[in-house]
Amino acid sequence: MQRSEALTEADRLMTICNSCRYCEGLCAVFPAMEMRRAFGGGDLNYLANLCHSCGACYVDCQFSPPHEFDVCVPSVLARVRHESYADYAWPRALAPLFRRNGLAVSLIAVVSIAAFILGFVAVSDPKALFASRHGPGSFYALMPHGAMALLFGAAFLWATVAFIMGARAFWNDIGEPTATLAEPRPLLQAVRDAAGLRYLDGGGVGCYNADERPNDSRRFYHHLTFWGFMLCFASTSTATLYHYLLHREAPYPLWDLPVVLGTLGGLGIVIGPLGLHAAKRRRDPAMMDPGSRGMDVAFLAMLMLTGASGLALLLLRETGAMGLLLALHLGAVFALFVTLPYGKFVHGLYRFLALVRYAKERQA
Ligand code: SF4
Ligand code: SF4
Repeated sequence: MQRSEALTEADRLMTICNSCRYCEGLCAVFPAMEMRRAFGGGDLNYLANLCHSCGACYVDCQFSPPHEFDVCVPSVLARVRHESYADYAWPRALAPLFRRNGLAVSLIAVVSIAAFILGFVAVSDPKALFASRHGPGSFYALMPHGAMALLFGAAFLWATVAFIMGARAFWNDIGEPTATLAEPRPLLQAVRDAAGLRYLDGGGVGCYNADERPNDSRRFYHHLTFWGFMLCFASTSTATLYHYLLHREAPYPLWDLPVVLGTLGGLGIVIGPLGLHAAKRRRDPAMMDPGSRGMDVAFLAMLMLTGASGLALLLLRETGAMGLLLALHLGAVFALFVTLPYGKFVHGLYRFLALVRYAKERQA
């Protein structure tokens, strides 16, 4: 099969780097590269997904432009990563749609679901749209709990199947046996490395920006975004347990666990993506892949919209704005889930799997 231009360029750079080896202490990419003499497509995809795009190897490199070797590892590995997301996507036909129009597709999904909910209420009971309600069960006056569970259960199932298929494609491409995933030591090491964002530190000094002064802001905002997402997920799971096991209906009091988790998580997925977007704007464009900008922006925008609409719903849930805000929030959550397997979110999944393989290789 013919290689893409990005894979060909990554092969050239890794061959140069393998002779030089100056950057071997910066991250996992260079030690993993040194274990190889030649680079197949799967090897390059593995190395690209190990890279956290900190920029250190670009700033440190004596062969970076204007040198004739034209070595720019972060941007080339970012291009390879971006291509790999489309190659592993399931169903594959959907990947180009999200790749080219990620933000537009996500926003259309938000508006469609919100309009569907509002239209449903407007037809059955128009006054309910702007009525102010209080106490348990008030959300379900707009959309019955069963219908909500069905809609979001289907979105969750879709995303889960697409993630499993994507992970399988990545694992096959890099040539790892399934049995590796049952080995506790590499798994544990990868969990540690991923949870601490170990390789997002430019070898210890932080990520590089346009002014070549490294700092840790990308790592900080990544943590906020990741833990914000996990807290939101924990909030929804707790609320589901409340509903089915304790027979307690939402909305819950401000001090109750689902609300506390959801509020902290909502703040995380608003502030984290804002910080990441600002950090992206400060980066030297030479270290980035312009082709993945749309995908990045779409993912950050959807996280912020989900968090902001959830927080607004919490503040105004006993006013006449509740119906509109609930429809908007549910639309955002639905769109976020169905677009997750085709957007930037997948970088977390493939990076984690690449770290599992790296831990196994190191331990061997
Ligand atoms: S990025 Fe540059 S300095 Fe670093 S290993 Fe490659 S060629 Fe050497
Ligand atoms: S950009 Fe950072 S993580 Fe990526 S290869 Fe260079 S030093 Fe490693």
